[in-house]
Amino acid sequence: MPNYKAELIGVFGHPVNENPTVAVQEAAFKALGLNWRYLTVEVLPENLEDAMRGVRAFGMRGINLTIPHKIAVMKYLDSIADDAKVIGAVNTVVNREGKLHGENTDGKGFITSLTQEGKTSIPGKRIVILGAGGAARAIAVELALRGAGEITIVNRGRERGQDLTRTIAAHSATRASYVAWNGILKIPESTDILINATSIGLFPNIDEKPLIDYDTIRSAMVVCDVIPNPPRTPFLKEAEKRGATAIDGLGMLVNQGAIGFTLWTGRDAPVEVMREALAKEFRAV
Ligand code: NDP
Repeated sequence: MPNYKAELIGVFGHPVNENPTVAVQEAAFKALGLNWRYLTVEVLPENLEDAMRGVRAFGMRGINLTIPHKIAVMKYLDSIADDAKVIGAVNTVVNREGKLHGENTDGKGFITSLTQEGKTSIPGKRIVILGAGGAARAIAVELALRGAGEITIVNRGRERGQDLTRTIAAHSATRASYVAWNGILKIPESTDILINATSIGLFPNIDEKPLIDYDTIRSAMVVCDVIPNPPRTPFLKEAEKRGATAIDGLGMLVNQGAIGFTLWTGRDAPVEVMREALAKEFRAV
């Protein structure tokens, strides 16, 4: 008997038209021969509640949330993963037989990149994070929950920076401190991992880089950027010049999508297919 019914997932955002995730997830469905579709849907903030009812009504298998819905969606869910609760945001919802469960895969995607590409472990490591926005929160919380020794949050805005250090201290044994970013930052020599989790360098501002003294980067450091496009940012190029191991944001984005794919389908994600699909989209921009 034929089965014409497709399983549905997608993303709700505003704006959403430049979100490339559809190409990544649909490449993965195709690779595994799954009759699933990924819908890219513009949802205004005032319509999010109805849109989440739509997820239930259509029996959608799940949904991604992007700007501005990652926090607001939490009140429409039946359960939320512990780490996503600490982060305070959900970017992936899984429909478990009518019950909507929230996860945050941003930080986990980062951790996969860091440990696999950076070939580094996390327990005890001394980490400096530039930024205290949504990406920085997800990354910092996942690193702290995995036993990072020390996390220094460097941010322009004091309130967001201090709030993140309080979150880390309240939920882990990681030493957390805040440094105000109001000049050229020197990276402490003892740093193992340096992460740019700001939006500096994002397309189209591709020549911008964080204000730091790049000569304080040492070759033993692992240096990561969350910017997925272009993946080789000026920040990472400076780090590479000093012999550091450089990890780009494209891997983070691919890996968070791969985690979502597995949460929805229960199948191992074809990560290389997904990476190539995303790189192709970015080359086309
Ligand atoms: P937010 O707007 O929540 O946070 C932005 C952060 O960048 C804040 O800490 C802000 O500091 C800082 N910042 C911005 N401009 C400057 C500047 N000129 N100088 C110093 N600090 C600055 O954004 P998100 O955290 O959601 O996203 C950050 C980046 O992460 C984006 O570029 C996004 O594309 C990327 N990202 C990548 C993902 C991936 O999978 N690769 C996943 C999610 C996000 P302040 O608080 O002082 O304003």
